[in-house]
Formats: sequence, structure tokens, C-alpha cells
Amino acid sequence: MNPARIRTILSGRPGSGPVVYWMSRDQRVEDNWALLFARTIALDADVPVFVVFCLTDGFLGAIRRQYEFMLRGLQEVEAALDRKNIPFFFLRGNPGEKIPGLIERYEIGTLVTDFSPLRIKRIWTEKVSSGVKIPFFEVDAHNVVPCWEASKKQEYAARTFRPKLLSLLPEFLTEYPELEANPEFSEISSKSREPEKSPEIRKKEIEDLLPEKPLEEKTNFSSGREIFEAGETAARKVMNEFLTDKLDSYYTLRNDPAKDALSNLSPYLHFGQISAQRVALKIENTKANQESREAFLDELLVRKELADNFCYYNPFYDSFNGFPEWAKKSLNAHRHDLRSHVYTLEELEAGKTHDPLWNASQIELLHTGKMHSYMRMYWAKKILEWSESPEKALETAIYLNDKYEMDGRDPNGYTGIAWSIGGVHDRPWQERDIFGKIRYMSYEGSKRKFDVKFYIAKYSVL
Ligand SMILES: Cc1cc2nc3c(=O)[nH]c(=O)nc-3n(C[C@H](O)[C@H](O)[C@H](O)COP(=O)(O)OP(=O)(O)OC[C@H]3O[C@@H](n4cnc5c(N)ncnc54)[C@H](O)[C@@H]3O)c2cc1C
Repeated sequence: MNPARIRTILSGRPGSGPVVYWMSRDQRVEDNWALLFARTIALDADVPVFVVFCLTDGFLGAIRRQYEFMLRGLQEVEAALDRKNIPFFFLRGNPGEKIPGLIERYEIGTLVTDFSPLRIKRIWTEKVSSGVKIPFFEVDAHNVVPCWEASKKQEYAARTFRPKLLSLLPEFLTEYPELEANPEFSEISSKSREPEKSPEIRKKEIEDLLPEKPLEEKTNFSSGREIFEAGETAARKVMNEFLTDKLDSYYTLRNDPAKDALSNLSPYLHFGQISAQRVALKIENTKANQESREAFLDELLVRKELADNFCYYNPFYDSFNGFPEWAKKSLNAHRHDLRSHVYTLEELEAGKTHDPLWNASQIELLHTGKMHSYMRMYWAKKILEWSESPEKALETAIYLNDKYEMDGRDPNGYTGIAWSIGGVHDRPWQERDIFGKIRYMSYEGSKRKFDVKFYIAKYSVL
């Protein structure tokens, strides 16, 4: 494995027991550099590898639909690990407290985790590292080019990031080795005793783990489950269907919300149920037209990894302070402009504005758990137009995005919203009311791009 994927968080003195992979962002067994690295250290030390996942309540505003998707995915993780004789521990509570406890109990030798640029995982990682004395490593198993290798600073725009990323792809876009199974515990040193069986995440228990008040009961819309079947197997099916049925027309149809032309991979990528690197390797081997392949890889690699770059290097990735200077200055100059409409959170959440196109996009989000990517830009920009301040707009957009998108609470979301409302990775445009120099999008402009009436009709029946 390319050693640049790995960072040492704590040197420490190795314990004599198993190696633990604390799985967080990358919830899969296949194609997972963090798990592969943990397995390699375990093989060298002649000890087994364990995997642990720590479930927290109320994670960044997630609701039932995301918890259910994640827990069903973890059920599959547990079963796949079991086939490799790898014990899976399912803990509940703050990882900062729970992981050190597990380490002590099993005299764990080395700890490995996956990387996320988001604040919450960084805080947990810090807390864990202050509570352990063994070597602790972090592996970027999410990005093809590790975030800290792709660039050493916050990038200004996709055009400054793209050449850096593309030049490193040959080094990092490589095939994954196969994950070796753990040996039988009786064959391993006595220190690595077989763990007491961690309670399985059984189907009926998932129900108990979900946040209270089923969304469907409260609001009468679907949980998103009908559309997104969870887990690694389902993720590969969605990828294969995209490759055979949709990729060829991606270039021409991707900005048309009235068509089903996108991959729908974002929930799987977000929860790490599929690796972007696997998708990229598959794309390279298809016969789809080059424009479509390039356009898709630009989203999957450049845009997605640029979002990690933004959240990693900008501590204000989810606040007004994180916007570029030109954008802050311009938004400040227009903060007292008269708004033709100012909607409450409740009105927005229910999709009750004067704009049928915006309402349709909100209803798409509520019902399906995934708004089309073109509409996400329009949606966030209108929230800016109809909010009392840019700060309020940002807060509302993040709240609704993280609550309802199956792929919410992701660097892509914070960056996409900061692009729409705060000009991040964009440039100044012609100045206008409220938006200042932030790029504007209109209903009329959308009408020229796609069949707006069809899209509105599709979702207004719901
Ligand atoms: C206001 C706003 C909010 C957004 N919120 C989220 C979010 O919460 N979670 C999320 O994953 N994406 C978010 N995006 C980015 C993008 O809209 C989604 O990734 C995309 O719609 C997911 O659908 P797909 O997988 O079918 O896309 P496809 O077009 O099939 O793209 C494949 C993959 O490429 C990546 N990608 C595509 N577009 C972008 C983009 N603009 N920026 C970064 N990566 C991209 C995603 O990982 C996506 O799954 C947001 C964008 C905006 C403008």
C-alpha cells in the first residue's frame, strides 16, 4: 500500500494483543485501505485484527432514514467480516470514551482509523488519542489521492486543484489487494484470546436503535428506503446499473433534473458503502464515450476531493467566515437589501413558497431523500434570496440538507452550500440585489435548460 495514505497520530508503544480498525467514515469490507492496513500490521505482528464501530445518538442532525440506511449497511459489514473470521464490535456512545475502554480490555496492540476532514471526527480522534498509549494511525480510505497529499493548502477553485489531483492519480489510482482472513484464534498467540461475541446488530434491534418518532408517521412521506437499498452489495448493483445504462449519456443529461441520468451513488459514497476508487477503476475500463467518462470522473474525483480539501483546510467550512473575502464583502454590502419574500424554516421545510420549482425540489428531497444536483444549486440560492441574512440562509440550508439528504453531513454538502451561498470555489459575477457578486440562478434560466413543467408535475403529485 502507498505509505502516503497513512499518517501517524500517536507513535506509542504497541500492546501485545490484536490490531483494531475503528471504522467510521468508510463502512465497508471490500476495497478499504484502512482495514487493509490494519490487517497488514496484524499479520506482521502475528495477531488478529478486530473491527469496531461506535454508534452515537443524534449525529449532526441525522434522522431515521440515514440511521436505518447506515445500520443496514453495518449488518452487511458484520456478516462479511464474520466470513473472514474478523470480530466486529458494535459500541454505542462517544467514541472518545468507548474506544480507549475497548483497547484496555483486549490489550490492543495498535489502533487504526479512517480519515474524515469534518470537525466531529477530528475531535473524536483527538479524544481517543489522549486516552490511549499504543500506536494510532489514520488512513485516508475515502479519497483516491489522500487529502493531505493532493494539496498542502486550501485550493481556490477546481481549476487550481484539478492539475494537482490529476498528476497524482497514476500513483494512487491502483487496484486493491484482497483482504486476508484472520487465522483461527486457537492458532494465534494466547494474548489474542477470542473476544466474547459482541451483540450482533439484529434486524429487530435496528428498530430499537433508530431515533424516535418515525419520520413517516410525522410527515407522511417515505423513508427513502424504497429507493436506496443499503449495503455494499446494493452499492455495487447501483454502480453497475449506472455503468451499463446511464454513463454513456451522462455528459448530455446530467444537468437535466427531469431525467434519471445521475449515478445515485452519493448515499453509498457518503457512508463508505462503496469506494470512489473502485468506481473510478471501473469507469476507466468501460467503453462509454470519453466526454461522459471525463465529466463523471471530474465530479467523482475533482469535485468530491476538492470538498474534502475545503473542509480540511478551512475550519469555518460551515459558517459565513469560511467564504472568500470578495464574497463576504459583497454579501455584507447587500445584507440590508429589501427581500421580496422571507420564509420561515417551517414554510421552507414544507415546500410552501410562491415558487413551484423550488417547492418541487423540496418535495423531491422530502420524499426520495435525494435532490437532483442541478436543483440543489437552485434550491440553496433561493434560500439565500428568501432569508433575512446570508448567515440565516446558510444555517437553514445546512439544517435541511443534513436532515433530509441521504448523503447529508458530508464535505460535499458543506462545500456545495458554501459554493451556492458564499461563492466558495466560484468567482465574482455581475452584481445584483441580495446576492451581491454571488452567482445567481433563476426560474427563467432553468426553463431554458430543462422541462421545468415536467419536473414540477412529477413532484407536485406527491
Ligand atoms: C447546495 C448543495 C448541497 C449539496 N449537498 C450534498 C451532500 O449533502 N452530500 C453530497 O454527497 N453531495 C452534495 N452535493 C453535491 C452533489 O449535488 C451531489 O453529490 C450529487 O447530486 C449526488 O448525486 P449522484 O451521486 O447521483 O451524482 P453524480 O452526478 O452521479 O456524481 C457522482 C458522485 O460525484 C460526486 N459529486 C457530484 N457532484 C458533486 C459536487 N458538486 N461536489 C462534490 N462532489 C460531487 C458525488 O460524490 C457523487 O455521488 C451538494 C451540492 C449542492 C450545490
